[in-house]
Order: sequence, then C-alpha cells, then structure tokens
Amino acid sequence: MIDPRKQADQHSEYQGPLQAAELSRLRDAVENIVDVQATVNFGRDHQHRMQIQGVADCNVSMICQRCLQPSNQEIKAEIDAILVFSEERAKALPQDLDAWVVGETANLHELIEDELLLALPIVAYHPIDDVRCKPPAIIETTDGSDLAPVESESPFALLRALKTEQEN
Ligand SMILES: [Zn+2]
Repeated sequence: MIDPRKQADQHSEYQGPLQAAELSRLRDAVENIVDVQATVNFGRDHQHRMQIQGVADCNVSMICQRCLQPSNQEIKAEIDAILVFSEERAKALPQDLDAWVVGETANLHELIEDELLLALPIVAYHPIDDVRCKPPAIIETTDGSDLAPVESESPFALLRALKTEQEN
C-alpha cells in the first residue's frame, strides 16, 4: 500500500515487475500471465492535483478464438490519471482527465491491474499470418452444438463404397 499524497509530493517513481500472484483478477481473465512490468511516476500537475503517469506492459497468454489454442498477447496500458479522494471529486474533473479514486492509502498494484484489464482485447487471436492458427475441424449445427469431425469424401472412400455395394 502507498500513501498517494506523500508519493505525489515526493515525485516518487516505481519501476519493476509485478508478481502474477498479486494480480488475481488479471490471472482470472487470461490463460497465463507471463510477465508484467510497470513504470509509474507520481507528481502534481499545474493545478497542484495529485497525478500519476506511466506505462504498464504485460505479456499474457489468451485462448485464440480461431484455433482455440493459447496465443501470446502483448498488452500495453498507458497510465495518466489524477488521484482524487472521492467520487464527487472524480466527477468534478474535466472530461479529458481520468480519475483514480483513492483513500488515504492506495493499492498501486490494483490500480495498474485495472488499467491492464481495460487494455485486454475482448477477443484474442493469433496474428493472421500464423500458419499454425487454423479453425478446429468441427461443423456447427443449426442448434449451435458441435459435431465430431467428419471424414472428407476422398475418391478412395467413394471407391470403397462402390466396392461394398457391388459385393452385396
Ligand atoms: Zn489461433
């Protein structure tokens, strides 16, 4: 936990990795957290408001919705917010400023996690040129249920069918 007022007055800087264990909501939203790095600076803006600016990068694995295999996603979240002590103060800020409502103490990991969650893609895919990324061989039925893969009608299959017909 940090003291936002003190950090702002001291222009503190935080830099380094965040432990996946401390990011339970992000962990629930993705398959796997590979790495999270953040650099943030506290300070005061020209109106003496408490300010936090920085960037958070994370490398996570999410299920690709084309091939249903894990895909690597690099997420970057820009952090630029004014720290306020109440929802009222947050609403009173100009529209173009983001507010982070904090108490006398604040959980920096939680704030960074919020930004990363917002930056996650809603649906993840492999890059379009990834040759391993192919839709699984299933046929969607009209009622939405999945059928097992069907054998494609090869000439040999047809031949086999003909042969059995003749034999009978
Ligand atoms: Zn894929």
